[in-house]
Amino acid sequence: MKNILFTASECTPFVKTGGLADVIGSLPQSLNKTQNTKVKVILPFYDEIPSHWQSQMEQVASINVPIGWRNQEASISMLEHNGVDYYFIANDYYFTRKGVYGYYDDGERFVFFSRAVIEALPHLNFTPDVIHAHDWQTGLVVAFAKILQPIPDIKTVFTIHNIKYQGIMPHDMFDDFFNLSMSHFGGLEWNGVLNCMKSGIFHADKVTTVSPSYAEEIKDPFYSEGLHPLLLEREDDVSGIINGIDTGDYHPLKDPYIHVNYRHSRAKKKINKEHLQKTLNLAVDPDKPLYVMITRLVEQKGIHLMQRILDEFLEEEVQIAVLGTGDFEFEDFFYHAGQRYPDSLSVQLTFDEKLARQMYASADFFIMPSQFEPCGLSQLIALQYKAVPIVRETGGLKDTVTPFNEITGEGNGFSFNNYNAHDLLETLRYSLKVFHDPVQWIQLLKNVNKSQYSWKDSANEYAQLYEELEHVNIYS
Ligand code: ADP
Repeated sequence: MKNILFTASECTPFVKTGGLADVIGSLPQSLNKTQNTKVKVILPFYDEIPSHWQSQMEQVASINVPIGWRNQEASISMLEHNGVDYYFIANDYYFTRKGVYGYYDDGERFVFFSRAVIEALPHLNFTPDVIHAHDWQTGLVVAFAKILQPIPDIKTVFTIHNIKYQGIMPHDMFDDFFNLSMSHFGGLEWNGVLNCMKSGIFHADKVTTVSPSYAEEIKDPFYSEGLHPLLLEREDDVSGIINGIDTGDYHPLKDPYIHVNYRHSRAKKKINKEHLQKTLNLAVDPDKPLYVMITRLVEQKGIHLMQRILDEFLEEEVQIAVLGTGDFEFEDFFYHAGQRYPDSLSVQLTFDEKLARQMYASADFFIMPSQFEPCGLSQLIALQYKAVPIVRETGGLKDTVTPFNEITGEGNGFSFNNYNAHDLLETLRYSLKVFHDPVQWIQLLKNVNKSQYSWKDSANEYAQLYEELEHVNIYS
């Protein structure tokens, strides 16, 4: 039995801003159920965590966390949920705030959290064989684990969920936040500044990312956000394991949030669509194809392409529903577009899990034209709710969506290669053509119905990786 400690900055059902939370909320459960592992998870305690979860936590210990020359107190509490022990590190100064990220001192907050994870190790009621850290917020957990060796021979895995966000700080924070000798500066620094993502990649025994294609892409300057030299150096230790989703939770037959539950039935999906059209004040016409986007409204998600072609595509007999939050430029654009097309375009600028599920359940198509996409969970959720994904061929989108081929009858979606608005428009128009061709449409839906991305295979791959770590010599 391998003891694994997951550490991350978000996790469903406690706190979520994106796909990372879905992964941390479902992979440990799947590992504990299907593999010979005991996974525990350690997270920051945010004010945002709903009170019914907070009231289930039990305090385990109080610890002192050294931050440079200072000491901060932290308390550790714990709850058990679906076979996984979750630990939460609380500190009023760093985490009793509104929201999750976006503060000027986010770097310092996660230096604190990372060091606190190390100090918390004696209080977790197990000795981890492996620390598995996720994204920049916990890159320093890996660095501290290697430098301070709180557990002799501890092994580490660092997973990159999105290399765009690296957690950088001015280099002079090294003295302020880390009581480490200068010999360790080089392992934390990149291009003259402290970089938490680099620290994780540099110190981890194994580095993974969330799809095989993205693992290749990030060695290229176009995708690497400057870190390709390091990734090329560590090439032999970098691999891609595709994310899954919790297919028990995202399940149209059981989902309590949706209007009518269904397995494959298009008729029942139409009832959901009609209900959604009423909820969103769209023209009620369940025969009209509905295209949905549920996304952070940021450049990464290909929003610029949608901006270019929205008016042209809305000349067709279609409806589009957008749910998202993000950059002002995009929120503003969609808000005004929504005013111009009240019958055919709905724009909801909010984060709403229930509405998201109703939209997946109602959608005929799910649009995701990302500039880059490490894995993408939304297209997997869409497939699970029998909405046909339309994606750009990048990262995990390329690994999970195969373009429909009307000759061979293969494919579970639509895709285009170049990051070009009119290629997206052509693909959308082609999807509409297939929608109106009963023979092809039924064939495509058959393929969609067969596409399932549960954690089964990927959990197995992670378990194998943890086994391989036995043979890593930490002093090499
Ligand atoms: P990323 O993590 O880059 O944002 P993913 O596709 O991996 O993208 O995961 C996004 C997750 O967040 C999905 O579960 C998606 O349904 C959800 N999501 C995104 N925006 C919203 C929103 N405005 N309201 C509800 N859920 C959202």
